[in-house]
Amino acid sequence: MNITVEQRVRDQLDEFRRDGVYKRLNHIESPQAARVAMEGRGEVIILSSNNYLGLSNEPQVVQAAKDALDQYGAGTASVRFICGTFTIHRELESELASLVGTDASLSFVSCWNANEALFATLLGPDDTVISDQLNHASIIDAMRLAKAIVKCETAVYRHSDMDDLRAKLVAAKDRRTRVVVTDGVFSMEGDVAKLAEIVELSRQYDALVVVDDSHATGVLGATGRGTAEHRHVLGEIDIITSTLGKALGGAAGGFVASSAAVCDYLTQRSRPQLFSNALPCTVAGSALAAVRHLRGHPESVTRLHENTAYFRQQLLSRGFKPLEGETPIIPVILGETAKAIQMSEMLLDEGVFATGFGYPVVPKGEARVRCQISAAHTRADLDQALEAFTKVGQKLGLI
Ligand SMILES: *Cc1c(COP(=O)(O)O)cnc(C)c1O
Repeated sequence: MNITVEQRVRDQLDEFRRDGVYKRLNHIESPQAARVAMEGRGEVIILSSNNYLGLSNEPQVVQAAKDALDQYGAGTASVRFICGTFTIHRELESELASLVGTDASLSFVSCWNANEALFATLLGPDDTVISDQLNHASIIDAMRLAKAIVKCETAVYRHSDMDDLRAKLVAAKDRRTRVVVTDGVFSMEGDVAKLAEIVELSRQYDALVVVDDSHATGVLGATGRGTAEHRHVLGEIDIITSTLGKALGGAAGGFVASSAAVCDYLTQRSRPQLFSNALPCTVAGSALAAVRHLRGHPESVTRLHENTAYFRQQLLSRGFKPLEGETPIIPVILGETAKAIQMSEMLLDEGVFATGFGYPVVPKGEARVRCQISAAHTRADLDQALEAFTKVGQKLGLI
């Protein structure tokens, strides 16, 4: 190893430890579920997983991965266009499109990958992408990549500020294409994009709407079809990207959902499709079973919504001040990163795992413990977690 690089990273790591911002990785010894075995502690209640519907350990989902392994083997051993497209990929893509309300979809090995593929392939030097300030890192990097490769312009509007979005659309009115991109649910705040207004404004200024629904697919809307269902604009979104790594089985993978032509064009031209292996068939199998499970069990979405409302209301009544919202992402702001990490460690000692987030994942001074609720939690799980929150909150003088 180059000695200066080695020394520099060691010094940095020492600094993280000194500042109390070094992230210890917890080792999980059982399947992801409401409770998991972690760090030899026995069972810990998980309030930190994107396993919103509990599908990552749903027997039908796990069995589907095993069946796909038997039927298709370990891997694709190829990119999609050479010999990496299996029938199960096509089945999955058609179910995903139907779930989110588009004509077609195309799977990728991650939503990060899907976002990177999208802008750099569809746009050119005469186009402008207009992005919400709090969009996910994968959207930010996808825009940087597109800017570097195809020389499109980019602009950022203040978080969910429709006046600012309008101003950015006006400023881009002479461009060939305007693209407005937003997270459906913002992962660190847990708030929902004002999608009806965004669709309306985008129509007015002839812009394309892209929604990254990673935290909303299987989560928002009465039947889990995402932010568009929640905001009553199902079928009106031009392009949806989302992950298979959260509510839909939690393994990995992502997709772009749009018209058949857009998906075909990404198949023909996007670099991740052309130069990187297809989604493993095991994952396509488990994700397909997860989508079918979701379609067949809308009551699991109802349970998720009920659990979320209960936990939020209980935190409030116990004196906590979580950020307002209606999604299963419930952040409690603490300020300094070290304090958020301390609270997270104290909760873990009480048998509850809720991750502390600090800079650079959230802005300096806005460190937080983020709770995520799942349909897999029972009322007893939630009550036990709330008791731990109360105990730790009192010790830290938060309530
Ligand atoms: C989690 C997340 C991603 C990343 O998804 P992967 O499939 O794990 O790459 C992308 N976008 C948003 C908005 C996310 O929340």
